[in-house]
Formats: sequence, structure tokens, C-alpha cells
Amino acid sequence: MFRVTVLTIFPDLFPGALGFGLSGKGLGSIWDLHIINIRDFAKDKHKKVDDTPYGGGAGMVMRPDVVHDALTHALGLYHPHIPTILFMSPRGQVFSQNMAVSLMGNNSGPLVTNSSKSVLMEGETARRTAVYLSVYEDSSTESTQQKADYKELRERSSDGMIILCGRYEGIDQRVIDIWKTEHGMLEVSIGDFVLFGGELPAMIVIDACIRQITGIMNNPDSTKIESFSVDLLEYPQYTKPSTWRGESVPEVLLSGNHGEIERWRLEQSEEITKELRPDLWGRYRSNPDG
Ligand code: SAH
Repeated sequence: MFRVTVLTIFPDLFPGALGFGLSGKGLGSIWDLHIINIRDFAKDKHKKVDDTPYGGGAGMVMRPDVVHDALTHALGLYHPHIPTILFMSPRGQVFSQNMAVSLMGNNSGPLVTNSSKSVLMEGETARRTAVYLSVYEDSSTESTQQKADYKELRERSSDGMIILCGRYEGIDQRVIDIWKTEHGMLEVSIGDFVLFGGELPAMIVIDACIRQITGIMNNPDSTKIESFSVDLLEYPQYTKPSTWRGESVPEVLLSGNHGEIERWRLEQSEEITKELRPDLWGRYRSNPDG
């Protein structure tokens, strides 16, 4: 079972949305959610997890000693396995479908994607991030060392995931640096905006990741052909009634001709992607065979 551990000062927020629908149905059988209250690791009788920032300024900062002890405890629960550790942060690598697929490694189905490269980190690249995100790249260019790393990390990612959620103005930089260096912790953002806390971002990441677990969907094909799988947005979907407010569903979908239907869907996907996401379209065009 794929185990996700979340570190938060608001444990009651979980499982939240993850407790509903297919993610909720798989909870406890296909995947498992363990919540750790960071406050339990506070040192004083007031259970204080934050303090004022050195150098002044607005807001509070989460203490490194408290966060470190919570992380150490969480990691210990996986021993001897080594989970992926994520820190939700607006400064992180922006989350994507490719990242979800790569992070899930062995747990996900054989999704074929041609764009892992585009999400590689730049700058102070966490080497491990690059390795995770390279899992689905063309293996012909890998060195022996890289191949060994991929194997190690694919196995690692099967061991589950720990997600650290910040609050207030964020977390003391020292504990972030130590966990990045010593444990390959990855900073992950869900987009260029700032929220009050990492809990909603964590739920989004968990949702997208566990969606990749083989067996969680009623129809496993649905993760393979939806938006972003091959840098194309999904084609339009229709259901009953066949005519509604004078609008009929496209004729071809009623034809029963699967070849035609596939062709029509691909055309639609291409049209929609070209119009709505020229960036994805460019990527797709540069490698249309995936
Ligand atoms: N002062 C910080 C923001 C802190 S917001 C800054 O300017 O960068 C408090 C917490 O919310 C963060 O530590 C992080 O865990 C979470 N958070 C906020 N926005 C986020 C985003 N876009 N993606 C992921 N996590 C986010």
C-alpha cells in the first residue's frame, strides 16, 4: 500500500477532499494517509511551533527544531524504506502531471510521456529532483551511474511520500536546507500565488499522485489518455441526452466506428491544444510520436 504522511499544524483538514470519490474509496486499501501534528513536537508547555523572524518584519516563522523533530519522526516510521519527501512552497518547482508521474515511479502505470525534460529544475537543482523527473526520459542517453540512480529512486518512490506543509510566513531556512541536502527533500509549488498554508497544495499533489496508482481508477485507461499525458489537452466529452437544448452530440461518436472516433478525438485534442495552450502544442509538435 502506498503510504502518504502529511506534517501539518492543522491535522483536522485531512483527509478532506481526498476522503471522497475514488481517492476516498482507495483510502485504506490502495493508499494510506498518516497525519502528523507538528505541534506534538513543540518543546515548551505552550506548544509553540513558531516565533518572530530574526531581522524583523511581519508574521511568524516556523521553528527549525520543531519541524526537524517532526520530519525525523515521520521518516523513522518508514524505516528501512526511504520515502520521497516534499515541502510545499511557493518557491518550489511548479507541480505538473509529468512530476506526478515521475514521483510515483513504480507505482504508476506505463504512462508514456515525451516531455519529462521540460520540468527539469534549473539553478540550485536538487540533483535528486532531476533524477526523479528523468525517470521517463529516453534511456539510451543515460550513463550507468544515472541508470543506477533511476533504479534506486524508482524503488524509493514506491516506498511512499512525506509532505511537509508550512504555515505563517514559512519555515526557518536551516531545516529546509538540511533536509534538501541530506534527504533529497524537494520543494514543490502548485503555482505562482501565495496561500495561507501548504495543506491545500499537499492535497492537490496527493490527489494527482495517487491517481497514478495502478488499480485506483475504475478504468485504468482513463489516466493514460487524459489531458497532459502526451502534451495534448483532452478532447471534448459528451453524455446523454444525445440532444439537449437543440444541440446534438457530434455524429461520429454515435457511429460505433472506433477507428473514426479515435481519429476525431485526436484531431479535437490537437485543435484545442493549438488554440488554448500554444506552449504545449509546440512541445507536442517537436515530438509528435511521444
Ligand atoms: N512568506 C512565504 C509564503 C508563506 S505561505 C513566501 O513569500 O514565499 C505559508 C505556507 O503556505 C508556505 O510555507 C507553503 O507551505 C504554503 N504555500 C503557500 N503558497 C503555496 C504554493 N503556491 N504552493 C505550495 N505551497 C504554498
